[in-house]
Amino acid sequence: MKIAFIGLGNMGGGMAANLVKAGHEVRAFDLAEPALAAARENGCETFGTAKEAVAGVEAAVSMLPNGAIVKAVYENDVFGHAPEGAALLDCSTIDVATARELSEEAGAQGYVMADAPVSGGIAAANAGTLTFMVGGSDEAFSRAEPILAAMGKAVIHAGDSGAGEAAKLCNNLILAATMIATCEGFALAEKLGLDPQVFYDISSKATGQSWSMTSYCPVPGVGPQSPSDNDYQGGFATALMLKDLKLAMEAAETSGAPTPLGRHAKELYEAFAAENGGLDFSAIIKTLR
Ligand code: NAD
Repeated sequence: MKIAFIGLGNMGGGMAANLVKAGHEVRAFDLAEPALAAARENGCETFGTAKEAVAGVEAAVSMLPNGAIVKAVYENDVFGHAPEGAALLDCSTIDVATARELSEEAGAQGYVMADAPVSGGIAAANAGTLTFMVGGSDEAFSRAEPILAAMGKAVIHAGDSGAGEAAKLCNNLILAATMIATCEGFALAEKLGLDPQVFYDISSKATGQSWSMTSYCPVPGVGPQSPSDNDYQGGFATALMLKDLKLAMEAAETSGAPTPLGRHAKELYEAFAAENGGLDFSAIIKTLR
């Protein structure tokens, strides 16, 4: 298929490369020249604007920082420029309301749109093992599934438009809370004289186990390779985790859901992001040691 890819950053770069590997013709656009250069090396054709990238495509995928950018890109450069009938798949993490609004606008203009945020991080984006949670009609899901399957290990239909984003925000609320709890556990274990590796060996096989511990351990040199081993560079930026927590707290407020741990996690990440927004979110262990 001829597929446009907009937003070739930490996540989008690897995702676009996996579409190429699956045999698709990928027309890529990003505002940053280094991202375009990397995409060319990975076999994408690159363009100077999003409007040019979506010309003549059967589908467009976006992986952008936030809802305001996603809305601007779709309204200014995709709607009316991609051919009618194209499948539009936004994989960014954004608010539920914007996802629903864009899907309605897309439908009115003859497109099929799905929100399809991801879980898994940069390693999974590069390896093609992301989990996609998809919000949209049955038709949108059936158009999205084969494209997303080339970039992930699981593609799950969460429900109607916006349901993918809802699942993503709830998932990341759990992730933030378990990461902070994991960091607290390791920091306390250290203060009590436990070797971090020994504590890992025990807790990873006990009830303290979580993805934050066994796939993304916040302590360097412990567990599989993770951003902590790279001085917390790369990975999932604290600023992006804070964005997701803010979206989750807005959703909690509008739906009347009590989320005391989520609120406290947001406060802790807000304080940490003031000076460390670019570090991976597991670096919050620095404030607890
Ligand atoms: P990133 O900042 O590395 O990449 C975003 C890219 O979008 C950049 O290359 C930037 O130049 C480009 N961009 C910004 N505005 C643009 C525009 N108007 N037109 C074209 N390109 C534009 O961010 P990322 O880590 O790749 O995250 C992207 C999305 O994925 C976010 O919504 C994030 O919340 C979500 N996400 C990230 C991770 C992770 O581990 N990094 C995991 C799951 C979900």
